[in-house]
Amino acid sequence: MPELPEVEALAEFLRRQATGCVVAGVEVGAISVLKTFDPPPSALHGLQVSAVARHGKFLDLDTDGLHLIFHLARAGWLRWYDDVPRAPARPGKGPLALRVRLDCAGTGPAAEESPGSPGFDLTEAGTQKRLAVYVVRSPAEVPGIASLGPDPLADSFDVAALAGILAGSRQQVKGLLRDQSVIAGVGNAYSDEVLHAARLSPFAIAGRLEEEEVKRLYTALREVLTGAVAAASGRPAKELKDAKRAGMRVHGRTGQPCPVCGDMVREVSFADSSLQYCPTCQTGGRHLADRRLSRLLK
Ligand SMILES: [Zn+2]
Repeated sequence: MPELPEVEALAEFLRRQATGCVVAGVEVGAISVLKTFDPPPSALHGLQVSAVARHGKFLDLDTDGLHLIFHLARAGWLRWYDDVPRAPARPGKGPLALRVRLDCAGTGPAAEESPGSPGFDLTEAGTQKRLAVYVVRSPAEVPGIASLGPDPLADSFDVAALAGILAGSRQQVKGLLRDQSVIAGVGNAYSDEVLHAARLSPFAIAGRLEEEEVKRLYTALREVLTGAVAAASGRPAKELKDAKRAGMRVHGRTGQPCPVCGDMVREVSFADSSLQYCPTCQTGGRHLADRRLSRLLK
């Protein structure tokens, strides 16, 4: 799943490619992705892309006051074309969720670089369809945006802001970091990375962290995300997934050596996800109970 750094890089990429272009067409490939009906996607036709923003993991194309907003969810992705396929999108066929055609004639660098008709597809692999598209007059009309917690890369997000969020929370810190209404943009992968960098157990209770641990968590949050944004920045959309994977130190690396201490990265599995951690760096060498594994061993 794309998280804050990849969505930020996609926003930057779209800002560069699409700002100033006019929406020439919006084709819905899978009707289930469309979460709003008024205004309809056709209302975007003829409007100029004036800005591209990120809210948590949501991308927001501002077109003269109407917003095309999407959330890529777990298996969604954006595919950019310098020349969009001419054939209209066929609903219900393949991974195509939404196709946006742009007219960039006479506007900015995109027009100079691409003589064809540019645009992008939103695609979603697999059978679990979670990708969501909204056409709204204000981003706040999207429930997932209205309820977002603070952005961890915002200037106003300082160590006191994080301490305020953690104070009194009985949630495990792993779950808290992933909760979009608490902190916006962090998901399963970067929460593993942040906790590893902060040398904290994923199961530590947020409200019981000591001042020193809160400081470590804050520093790790900012450094891991800033580093990932820098690594993703300037890359074309198609390279972002590999860049994300290559930057991971524990996430998705079960059984491999921790790059900090050499201990073996361990995993805890849940029904539909898993977390990875380094026992030496994060839990004083203790192995966290893996319920799935213990069940198999019974
Ligand atoms: Zn380690």
